[in-house]
Amino acid sequence: MIVAVGIGPGDEALLTGEAVDALADAEVVVGYAPYVELISGLLPVGAQVETSGMRQEVERCRLALDLHRAGKRVVVVSSGDAGIYGMAGLLMELDAEAEVEVVPGITACQASAARLGAPLMNDFAVLSLSDLLTPRAEVLRRVRAVAAADLVACLYNPTSRRRRPLFEEVVALFLAERAPQTPVGWVRNAYREDEEVHLTNLGSLAAEPIDMWTTVVIGSSRTEVMGGRMVTRRGYADKYEDARKAPGE
Ligand code: SAH
Repeated sequence: MIVAVGIGPGDEALLTGEAVDALADAEVVVGYAPYVELISGLLPVGAQVETSGMRQEVERCRLALDLHRAGKRVVVVSSGDAGIYGMAGLLMELDAEAEVEVVPGITACQASAARLGAPLMNDFAVLSLSDLLTPRAEVLRRVRAVAAADLVACLYNPTSRRRRPLFEEVVALFLAERAPQTPVGWVRNAYREDEEVHLTNLGSLAAEPIDMWTTVVIGSSRTEVMGGRMVTRRGYADKYEDARKAPGE
C-alpha cells in the first residue's frame, strides 16, 4: 500500500488521527522538502526521508511508486488534502494498478475560512490561478464563470513574481461582476508560524501584497463583515422573517 497523506495547513494539531497513524507507520516518506519538515516530528525514528523541490511532482511520484514496488511502506505527503491539487491523482495517473490509499486532510480554504470567520457558509468554488499546468485561457474562462455565478471564490496559487499581471486581470474580471466594496479576506501561511490574516475589499485587492503562500477568499453578494469577521449569509435571516410572519397569515 502507498498512502497519500494530507498533512493539513501546517500545524501538527490539524492532522487527522489517520494521517498521524500513517506517518508513524511509514518506512519511507516522500514529499516537497518544506512540507516534510512540517511533520518531521511525527515520523518514526529511522524512517527514510526523500525530499525534493518545487515542480518535481512527477519525479517524486515515480520514486514513491518504485519504492512501493520494492515492498516498502511508502507515505507521500501533500499539504492540505492530498487529493486537492495534491499528489494523490498523479500517483494514480502514473500507475493505475498501484494500491493507493488517500488519507484526507484539511485543505487551505477550510483553514483560511476558519481564520477569517465563516465565509464559506453558502456555495463556493476553488480556483487555482497557476498557469503551469492549466493554460491561461482556461484559468480566465473559469474565473469569468465563477465571478458571474456569484459564488464565493477561494483562490489558490494566486500570484508569483512572474504571474502578477494574471492576478490583476483576475481581480478585474471579478470587479466586472461584483461591487468594489465586496469583502475579501486573505490568509498567508494559515496555521504556520508566520501566519497573517487580512480583511480588505475587492476594489483594493489588486494592490495587496499577495504571494503564493496565500489563499484569497472573495465574497459573494451574501458576504458581509460582521464584528470584524467575514461571514456569508446562509439564508437564515429570510427564514426568520418568514417564521415571524407565518403565525398571523
Ligand atoms: N493540497 C493543498 C493545496 C495545494 S495548492 C491543500 O489542499 O491545501 C498550493 C496553494 O494552496 C498555495 O499557493 C496557497 O494558495 C494555498 N495554501 C496552501 N497552504 C496554505 C496555508 N497554510 N495558508 C494559506 N494558503 C495555503
